[in-house]
Amino acid sequence: MTSEAQEFWDTKSLNEMSHDEWESLCDGCGRCCLHKLEDIDTGLYFYTDIACRLLDSETCRCSNYPQRILLVKDCLLLSPTDSDQYNWLPITCAYRRIAEGKDLDWWHPLISGNKETVHEACISVRGRTVKENTVSADQLEDHIISWIDF
Ligand code: SF4
Ligand code: SF4
Repeated sequence: MTSEAQEFWDTKSLNEMSHDEWESLCDGCGRCCLHKLEDIDTGLYFYTDIACRLLDSETCRCSNYPQRILLVKDCLLLSPTDSDQYNWLPITCAYRRIAEGKDLDWWHPLISGNKETVHEACISVRGRTVKENTVSADQLEDHIISWIDF
């Protein structure tokens, strides 16, 4: 009888992961790159289908990841030391799931071995976004979506 090998995401906390391990946790869903609205009275967030201008709508990856902070002032850098503040991330996000002690789902590329499964499972935002330069400020609320839980 053999036991299944434990992978780094099973055995390490986010703080203990190497840079490459940390980066590989991102499933490429693109969900965190959608604009969000915050209710200032309740502090609740609402996801919209409006994508950051740097999001590649086909791959659902940032088109300039190395320079994203310089180019987009609202881009939020994830840090393992902020894991208690991941409540704005979708519940499918691997960083949030690991921080909450959950497993990765079958469609995560680290489990499936296939970067397409995040799209096949309709977790990614592929085909479901609009470009930010096509939406005016008074239209933002019309773009609130309900297909992302967080
Ligand atoms: S929501 Fe999480 S897993 Fe998805 S793209 Fe953003 S950081 Fe990566
Ligand atoms: S700049 Fe930030 S929010 Fe925009 S696509 Fe890149 S990673 Fe996502």
